[in-house]
Amino acid sequence: MLEVQQGDITKVEVDAVVNAANSSLLGGGGVDGTIHRAGGPAILEECRQIRAKQGGCPTGEAVITTAGKLPARFVIHTVGPVWNGGSKGEPDLLANCYRNSLRLAGENGVESIAFPNISTGVYGYPKDKAAKVAVETVKSYLQEHNLSIKRVVFVCFDEENYRLYQELIAK
Ligand code: ADP
Repeated sequence: MLEVQQGDITKVEVDAVVNAANSSLLGGGGVDGTIHRAGGPAILEECRQIRAKQGGCPTGEAVITTAGKLPARFVIHTVGPVWNGGSKGEPDLLANCYRNSLRLAGENGVESIAFPNISTGVYGYPKDKAAKVAVETVKSYLQEHNLSIKRVVFVCFDEENYRLYQELIAK
């Protein structure tokens, strides 16, 4: 049910890919840039429409679009917290990213979903702390809700995250 892979999330064959977006929804660097480049302009166009309606996406929230040219059917864009020392609500905000992404996936009948290591790039969240939040939150959310989701893949870009997630999943 929970899996760990190392590599590029745009290559993973799942129903939904989660994007570590920023609150503008207009694209950025890191995984966000890679998803928009690989998926093509349709995704950004939908993000623009959502932004026109609701004015971007607050931290911890998520929105869903189609996935353009990606193998996935959906991209779920969620906005992780910027790490600010840890006492500014970062763990709850990060957990909300995972919960809201899973909720949207469930509402759309998604059976498989891939997450990047949200907030651990430019947003500076310590990787070990973020990995714990990710795995614990996903496990308990799936236990507490009867969703369509059968498979969750944590896609790690770097070796350190890959090792951290493997340790946590093995437990
Ligand atoms: P954030 O702003 O949330 O920190 P980043 O995109 O900077 O977002 O980084 C989030 C995580 O995504 C980092 O661990 C980074 O190494 C990873 N990442 C970058 N590119 C990819 C990719 N193509 N596939 C999966 N993960 C990626």
